Amino acid sequence: MGKLTELKPFSSLIDILQNEPNTCIDIVKQCLNNIVSQADLNAFVRTYDGEALTTADQVAKKLHAKKAGKVAGMVVGIKDLLCYQDHPVQASSKILEGFISQFSATCVQRLVDEDAIIIGHQNCDEFGMGSSNENSAFGPVRNAIDTTRVPGGSSGGSAVAVQADMCHVALGTDTGGSVRQPAAFCGIIGLKPTYSRISRHGMIAYASSFDTIGIFAKDIRDCATVLEVVAGADTFDSTVSKQPVPHYSDYLTFSKKAKIAYLKETLAYTGLQDEIRLHTTATMDALKQAGHQVEAIDFPLLEYVLPTYYVLTTAEASANLARLDGVRYGYRSPSANTIEELYTKTRSEGFGQEVQRRILLGAFVLGANHYEDCYIKAKKIRRLIKDKLQAILSDYDFILLPTTPSTAFKIGFNAHDPLAMYWADVYTTLASVAGLPAISIPNGTDQQNLPIGLQIIANSFEETHLLGFANYIMQLPKKI
Ligand code: GLN
Repeated sequence: MGKLTELKPFSSLIDILQNEPNTCIDIVKQCLNNIVSQADLNAFVRTYDGEALTTADQVAKKLHAKKAGKVAGMVVGIKDLLCYQDHPVQASSKILEGFISQFSATCVQRLVDEDAIIIGHQNCDEFGMGSSNENSAFGPVRNAIDTTRVPGGSSGGSAVAVQADMCHVALGTDTGGSVRQPAAFCGIIGLKPTYSRISRHGMIAYASSFDTIGIFAKDIRDCATVLEVVAGADTFDSTVSKQPVPHYSDYLTFSKKAKIAYLKETLAYTGLQDEIRLHTTATMDALKQAGHQVEAIDFPLLEYVLPTYYVLTTAEASANLARLDGVRYGYRSPSANTIEELYTKTRSEGFGQEVQRRILLGAFVLGANHYEDCYIKAKKIRRLIKDKLQAILSDYDFILLPTTPSTAFKIGFNAHDPLAMYWADVYTTLASVAGLPAISIPNGTDQQNLPIGLQIIANSFEETHLLGFANYIMQLPKKI
């Protein structure tokens, strides 16, 4: 086992790979070495060492022959919610033990077709339900900056794998913040594109009207490159947008003067850590200094965002997870004697506590007695939130807000208080409820040196501006 070594961004390796194709084999070895030497972080649930090296060898030959794809040699990790043909996928749950994917998720396939190298499946909260990566059948993931702390969730393994140089980029899923929140906790970039920008085919569903594939990277160009490869129409997903896919990596500069809104309630929230408030306002001040317009907007609906999210997502989850019954996939209880016992025992033994809690809550809000006053009401509030945000974004280019109310908390800190855990998503669920694109970028650190994230929300399908502006802010000098 070698020493941990720093992984250069993929965008900086393109010329090297053209001139020295075999470098791509060395890079895979480097990533595998970094995975082994940091195995205690528990970022991966499965690595595909031999295969990754074989692919690297084939990619090197293609590079040599000048026939390689757009992301030839990029090392990619995928969340354990994304199907990869002929490989296991478990959603970090016992209930999918032994399940093998028969096809690859469209986003994975598109990267493979462009000669990316898939290095393994990454740990996550079971079925994407959680904000700390503590709800995994494979055990918690640890934040590489401080291993006593969580990496965030649910795509915690994917965030840590990028943070700790185990792969160039990772594909996660973001239903209510699962890419942005762990990106913030780990000090990297996390992009949730517009709902429907990327096909969901081959993603294990949690809440289908929210589920979005997202991208983790340290380098904004890598993030943009992956988006342009994976986004766009797909015959396997009737909900995916057919809008043309821009060449995102050509839009990484931002030269105009932006009109930016911030929502007063987000900074007034009492649960917001002081240092995060300070860093967010420092960035806004720097933007003003640079000639951009930054204005406060009232958004009294903020307190309804999180409850709306949890009512609707649990309802959708209870329907989506009904298929996991011990008959069709994965785990089956060995002690069932009747068909009813087969269902109940399989589900009680196979699902973890948080997943069971959400299925019960979802069944409750969809029940005849609560359908109108919970489910339908939440759908109406979702519409109000969407309309209000849309109205703001017809007047402003971006909305700025913190990604999370606190920096990475200690493992176990919120584990026995589900409501406290849910409040970790207060700022990320906003873009999710409205289906808007949002990105989390690093924005300084707190006194304990823990990373702080800044979130930028743009209008639907405005990922070009979003990436360009994110890149601009990351280079903006700030006074703090
Ligand atoms: N933490 C949120 C939840 O538990 C978000 C999860 C996600 O985006 N997959 O639902």
